[in-house]
Amino acid sequence: MQGLPIAIVGAGTAGLASAIFLARQGYAVRLLERVGELQPVGAGILLQPSGLAVLQRLGLLAECTALGAAVSRLYGTSCSGRVILDTRYQHWQPGSFGLGIHRGVLMTALLGAARRLGVEVRTGTAVSRFEQAQQHVRLFAEDGDGGEWPLGDVAALILADGTRSTLRAQLQVRQWARPYPWGALWSLLPTPPASDSDELRQWYRGCREMFGLMPTGCTHQARDNRLTSLFWSLPLAEHDAWRAAGLEAWKSRVRRLAGAVAEPYLQQLHDPQQLTLAAYADVRMQRWHDGRVLAIGDCAHAMSPQLGQGANMALVDAAALADALGEADGREQQMIDFPSAYVRYGESRRDHLRYYRQASRLLTPLFQSHSDTLAVLRDLALLLARYNRFGRDHAVTTLVGARSGWLWSGGGRRDLHAWRGEREAWE
Ligand SMILES: Cc1cc2nc3c(=O)[nH]c(=O)nc-3n(C[C@H](O)[C@H](O)[C@H](O)COP(=O)(O)OP(=O)(O)OC[C@H]3O[C@@H](n4cnc5c(N)ncnc54)[C@H](O)[C@@H]3O)c2cc1C
Repeated sequence: MQGLPIAIVGAGTAGLASAIFLARQGYAVRLLERVGELQPVGAGILLQPSGLAVLQRLGLLAECTALGAAVSRLYGTSCSGRVILDTRYQHWQPGSFGLGIHRGVLMTALLGAARRLGVEVRTGTAVSRFEQAQQHVRLFAEDGDGGEWPLGDVAALILADGTRSTLRAQLQVRQWARPYPWGALWSLLPTPPASDSDELRQWYRGCREMFGLMPTGCTHQARDNRLTSLFWSLPLAEHDAWRAAGLEAWKSRVRRLAGAVAEPYLQQLHDPQQLTLAAYADVRMQRWHDGRVLAIGDCAHAMSPQLGQGANMALVDAAALADALGEADGREQQMIDFPSAYVRYGESRRDHLRYYRQASRLLTPLFQSHSDTLAVLRDLALLLARYNRFGRDHAVTTLVGARSGWLWSGGGRRDLHAWRGEREAWE
């Protein structure tokens, strides 16, 4: 007696995690993804204890920790070797860690679980438009020739279609989407045997240059091949000039900044195509729902990756949505009071998301801008924070995803923020 299904647009972190939770709670779920074949592709991401807590609820923690790489601290120095950033997970809770993981590993684990639960996954389907009625939402897809065809009716619609959502604007909600002028070049490279590390390591020249290395673990397909994510901060407008200057010019800049540690990675780069440019944006919405439609993940609140929270936020959103909807209990899905459940969802996510949006907007120019003044202020503030208990606590609770405000951490959803534990065995 489930009637119409719930449709989720986008098989990324937010969409897949939501599909698993809702299917487990007895809902009929249809996942619509525009990509024809879901491939284990993407960059390395850092999962925080807040995201790991959700993976534990999903039953995927063992699989992800077996393949990812435990990260014990974030350590950043200036070009002269001065310590700028030193935030250790153990200062939050002994035994806790971040998890560097290939996005493809996370996607493979989530997709496998969704399929095992019987989620209907329709790939190659780009949703173009929706129309809301009293008891259903009607969906339409692009037909590839500039026209559209009906995709049928669903009881409710979850938009998890990422930062560049084309559906978000159809919600009758005030919203802002502002592209960042800076992006990052990244590459995933085999970790040289002597270079194994459990730190996310960064080097800075003022706020203008940033080079980083993050242990990223291995993939389902090649478990003996440990990977490291390499990233380089860059204004988007300078990408053409970067290509024109050539790889050797860039390598010289990296060597001057990071020295010998970077060398084994630089030696693996022979072609600018090995470095992918990632652009990101700041997305803000006055509220996240309109009638039977809800926006989650980057579609609802994309932010700069500086704080390493995007995938974690997507996971926490999925868990909060599941809690707000509760068990299906054999109810006809279109009879469920979705707007009220979405209000509960919004209340549970509001403080956590507001804090991270504000922190991300404040911190990003301190690491990606042309301002010398901001670099001095950043170094001073981080120095004071390192030698001050309040500052250290603030930095580490922000990192692990546990804060819900500037003056307090934790807040309402402690269960989602409090994970710590040992890596589990998985085969
Ligand atoms: C360089 C970089 C580094 C990052 N590092 C980190 C990190 O260290 N830690 C972290 O937590 N986060 C990080 N992030 C952010 C993280 O990757 C995202 O926040 C997270 O993946 C968001 O997931 P999502 O499901 O909301 O969106 P996405 O993963 O973008 O998924 C959206 C999906 O929707 C599909 N889609 C779009 N439109 C349609 C449509 N019309 N119809 C059907 N399907 C559609 C897309 O094909 C895609 O599969 C980083 C991001 C970048 C760019």
